Amino acid sequence: MADHGERIRLVILGGAGVGKSCIIKRFLFGTYCDRYKSTVEDLYYREYDLGSVTLKVDMLDTSGDLQFPAMRRLCIATAHAFLLVYSVTCPASLESAKRCLDEVREQRADFQEIPIVLAGNKIDMPAVHREVRMDDVTNWLYCEMPKLRVKVMECSAKEDRNIKEVFRSYLTLSKIIPATEGGESSAAGASGGSGGGGGLKRRSSAYVSNKGNRRSVSPAVGAGDEAAGGSSSSLEPTGFSRFKPRSRSLIRRSSRKAKQQMRDANDDCHVS
Ligand code: GDP
Ligand code: MG
Repeated sequence: MADHGERIRLVILGGAGVGKSCIIKRFLFGTYCDRYKSTVEDLYYREYDLGSVTLKVDMLDTSGDLQFPAMRRLCIATAHAFLLVYSVTCPASLESAKRCLDEVREQRADFQEIPIVLAGNKIDMPAVHREVRMDDVTNWLYCEMPKLRVKVMECSAKEDRNIKEVFRSYLTLSKIIPATEGGESSAAGASGGSGGGGGLKRRSSAYVSNKGNRRSVSPAVGAGDEAAGGSSSSLEPTGFSRFKPRSRSLIRRSSRKAKQQMRDANDDCHVS
């Protein structure tokens, strides 16, 4: 994630039902829906004008299960940054996120350099439902994986709490901007809390493509530049809501498991 002139690929992993899709939709479109619809793979593209640099970011929302191992390996191989999501109401989902982290460590020789945010979603749920404490997650990271470029954060896609801060964290984790510029008190290393304001400006409208980076295995190697033009706009959700969300599944396949997940729509999380 060092060369800002190239396209950056952020891959979102974690158990099914933890809120991965809701987080990305809240961030990109300012929307939230209580209805559960399983994801196979959705790719979003954005450009952000940081003043001196323009960040071109692909965001890949994944299914969260191990149904498509080849796709998953490719996702991990081609990512420049990861968002690992769990639900604070579901300890099994934290275990699932940990397994994702293990996969990253196994498959990527450069894993210590990769910016990763471990996000505990659904903090809006009543305290009685909380089953994962952030301190435990942070302590685990410090003890087990002290040298990773990881940040732990809690958020709520439903109530739009800490969502922008989750994404802004990558700027400091990847040293694109120093921690103070982003208003954050800490950067690399496991840390809690939210970031403050930042200078992120969105530059172009939504665009979705699966071309280019799919063939690039090394994160240091960028791919095609398919930047869509457009005028600058604020990162505020109201700014985004002017744009029509456009997402496209790279592969939309209905499977028995996916249908079962849709039937389980009201369950809290479905970790596989
Ligand atoms: P994914 O499988 O990880 O992509 O999960 P989704 O984003 O599709 O969300 C799964 C379910 O969790 C949906 O019914 C959402 O409405 C619900 N959900 C997602 N985010 C939140 C949140 O922040 N708070 C609460 N209470 N529910 C959420
Ligand atoms: Mg999803």
